[in-house]
Order: sequence, then C-alpha cells, then structure tokens
Amino acid sequence: MYYLERNSSNVLIIGAGIAGIQAALDLADMGVKVHLVEKRPCIGGKMAQLDKTFPTLDCSICILAPKLSDCYRHPNITLYTLSEVQKVDGSEGNFSVEILKHPRYIKEDVCTGCGDCAKICPVRGILNYFDANLVTLAAAYIPFPSAVPPIYLIDRKRCVYLTHGICVLCTKACDAEAIDFTQKDTIIKLNNISSIIIASGFNLIEDINPLKEYGYKKYPNVVTALEFERLICASGPQQGHLRRLSDGIDPKKIAYIQCAGSRNIKDKKYCSSICCMYTTKEAMITYEHDNEVESYVFYIDMRAGGKGFQKFLERGKAEYNINYINNKIAKIKVDENENPIIIYEDLNDGKIKELKVDLVVLATCIIPSEGNKKLADILGVDLDEYNFIKTKPFFSMETSKKGIFTCGCSHEPMDIPRSVAEASSAAARVAEIAKGR
Ligand SMILES: Cc1cc2nc3c(=O)[nH]c(=O)nc-3n(C[C@H](O)[C@H](O)[C@H](O)COP(=O)(O)OP(=O)(O)OC[C@H]3O[C@@H](n4cnc5c(N)ncnc54)[C@H](O)[C@@H]3O)c2cc1C
Repeated sequence: MYYLERNSSNVLIIGAGIAGIQAALDLADMGVKVHLVEKRPCIGGKMAQLDKTFPTLDCSICILAPKLSDCYRHPNITLYTLSEVQKVDGSEGNFSVEILKHPRYIKEDVCTGCGDCAKICPVRGILNYFDANLVTLAAAYIPFPSAVPPIYLIDRKRCVYLTHGICVLCTKACDAEAIDFTQKDTIIKLNNISSIIIASGFNLIEDINPLKEYGYKKYPNVVTALEFERLICASGPQQGHLRRLSDGIDPKKIAYIQCAGSRNIKDKKYCSSICCMYTTKEAMITYEHDNEVESYVFYIDMRAGGKGFQKFLERGKAEYNINYINNKIAKIKVDENENPIIIYEDLNDGKIKELKVDLVVLATCIIPSEGNKKLADILGVDLDEYNFIKTKPFFSMETSKKGIFTCGCSHEPMDIPRSVAEASSAAARVAEIAKGR
C-alpha cells in the first residue's frame, strides 16, 4: 500500500538498452514523465549491435529502430545521452537526482546529422565500440548511421587540430554552426522523482586467462560472438559478407566455443544463459549466407530453456549443417596459415582430439555492467555475489531499496523477450507508485 503525492509522477530510468527503452515507452504511454539516462552517445544497448535475433531470426535493428525513434520523440520522455547519475537522495515517492552530462562539442538542438564534420576530420583511429572495436572512425563521428539521437559528437581529447581550444576544420565545415568547443560537463538536478528503474544491462569478459588460452587477441581468426555479430551484419565493417580477419578468405568451417571464460572460473560460476541459443542462431545465419559452411558447436551442456528453444536447436542440426560436440576444450593453437586447431576432450569417449577450422567464435561470459558497483553505491542498493543488482527472491524486479526497481540483464543474464517482459513488469509497478496508487 502506498501513500504518496498524486502529482509525483516523474520516473528515472538508468540505461537505454532494450529493457530501459521498453520501460520508458510503457510509462510514457501511461502519461508518466520519464527521464532516461544513457552513458553512451546513443541508445539501443547491445540489441542495436546484433544482426538477427533468436528464436525468430528477425533483423534486430528492424525491431528496435521504431522503438528508438519513439523514445526520442515521445513528449513524456526526456533523454540524457553521454550522461550518468552521480547523486541520489530521498526515498520512494520523492527522490532527488543529480545527472552528470558530458559534452558532445556539438549542439544537440542544432546538429542536422549531415556528417560534414566527420567528412572533413583528418583524425583517424577512434575505436568504434559499436562495431566491437573492429573499425576506427574520425574524431568527429556518430557510432552508426541510424543512431538515436542522430547527432554527431567530437572526441576532443583525440583531436590534434585544436588551436586555442577550437578546431577550425570542422567548425568551418558545419553550415548549421553546431560545433561548440566551449561545452563543459553539466550537472542536471531533478526533484520529485517517484521511483527509479535500473536497466544498466551487461558487459562481456575480454581479458581473462581462459580467453588467452583460446588465443583471443593473439590469433586473428579467433573472435568473440559480439564481434561475429558485427562481422556478419549488413551494417557492419564487412557489409555482411563474412571474411576472416587474417586474409579476407570466406570461412567454410567454423567452431563456436560455449562457456568461454565462465562456469568453471572463480567468480564466474553462473550460466550466461543466452549463449547456447545465440550460437545456434549465428551458425544458422552463416549457413543462410553460404550453405557450404559447416559449423561445430563445442558445448559442456546444452541449455535451451524457453518456448520452442529445443526445437530451434534440433532445426540447427537437421537443416543448417550444425554439429554439436560435447567436450572440454584444452586449448587452441594455429597452423602456419592462421587456421585455428582446437584441442579438446570428447566427453562421449574420453579421447583427446583435434579439429582444424577456419574461424573460431567464442561465446564469452556475460558479466555485470561496468560501473554497477559505483551505481549501486550511489543508489544505496545491494549487489549479489557477482556484482549484478540484487533482487528479492519472489519479486525479481524489486531491489533491496524501496522505490528502486530493476529489469533486464542488470540483475542477471537473459534474452531480449525476457528483458522486454521484465521492463513492462517494472514499468507497471512504477506507474502505480507514480500515479499515487
Ligand atoms: C553476442 C550476443 C548475441 C545475442 N543474441 C541474442 C538474440 O539473438 N536474441 C535474444 O533474445 N538475445 C540475444 N542476446 C542478448 C541481448 O543482447 C540482451 O538480452 C539484451 O541486450 C539485454 O538488454 P538490456 O537493456 O538489459 O542490456 P544492454 O543491452 O546491455 O543495455 C544496457 C544499456 O545501459 C547503459 N548503461 C550501463 N550502465 C549505465 C549507467 N551507469 N548509466 C547510464 N547508462 C548505463 C549501456 O550503455 C546500455 O546502453 C545476445 C547477446 C550477445 C552478447
């Protein structure tokens, strides 16, 4: 039972991946004012980086793009990109919040998104997180062409053409006069926030020992699943024509390694839960591009716990040339042509075997969002033993603090349909509070 002010109908959502976006749209459609805070320059989270999604193999960005633009244009949603929550006081029904907004060096209300600043910018080498750091951009850039908001930004630290703090190249090239090198960090204060939803999502491990044993970052033909999503995506660095990074040859034999860096590792003893499904999806998409491709999925145990998921795996075997090998990987080495050779114990007969392939894709462990610890301290909520947001056993959207909710991968790994369902569920609870019921 809540006894709150009827007019306290502002809600804060932290993180604008699919979970934060869905919660924001649900609330905004119910007439609740939403402040949506995203630390990246654009919204969409990991879903925007995916090629297609299981279980339907729909194009990920085609489903997401209408939600991105609805979020941007909705009169009840205020979007803060390049922003982080730095202070929260108060309690359910009346939180006050401070948001730190970093400068874009481009005026958000003036930029037309034409890209003239990026065309003229001679600086190269800015790693683009959106393409899993596989390509570099100019210092004036937008992470991807259909990014929301459709506003460029300038990496001022990397611009070597600054004179008296201004780069004349992009400043002159911008007919709209949107370039503004005088921008500074700004603090935005919000009062009367009735409740908060944490939708900070997840990260993927990249740098622990088991990945080194698999040759990640040492051998060019060992990539992560997220890198693979970008490589096979039509909007990615290879325009959807999958080629090996070492020599540009089309791979015909691909190995997918499950549980890379998880489960048997100290501190990572949980299941990342989505990899069995997205690996089969990636192998299916690859086969649809080139039906000469053979896929080998190296797994410890197969977890397909969802409606129609087991059938999806069966289709993989029957129709998409996917071979599932129950195994424990020992290590990966390469031959003189950079072809990865997988050394593994076949768990069916206990024998040590080798398989030479053209490309290896690692299903790397899902870990809590970078900064979850700091965020939890600011909000005063508990984390679980792995640093995901701790939730109540029978109310998985409720955190340890009244009035603060969570949804999506911020509290445990999950797929898109479940993230969306949780977001709507959190939004329903929050709407009750915002409307004083
Ligand atoms: C390789 C791969 C393939 C996948 N394929 C599929 C698939 O085919 N089908 C499927 O259903 N699922 C798939 N998934 C899972 C899917 O990506 C997730 O279910 C989904 O992205 C979860 O959404 P989210 O909003 O919880 O998290 P995220 O997508 O991680 O979004 C979180 C957002 O919060 C922002 N953020 C984080 N911390 C802060 C902070 N402190 N302040 C402000 N903003 C913050 C982040 O920048 C990000 O934009 C796949 C995942 C991977 C890794």
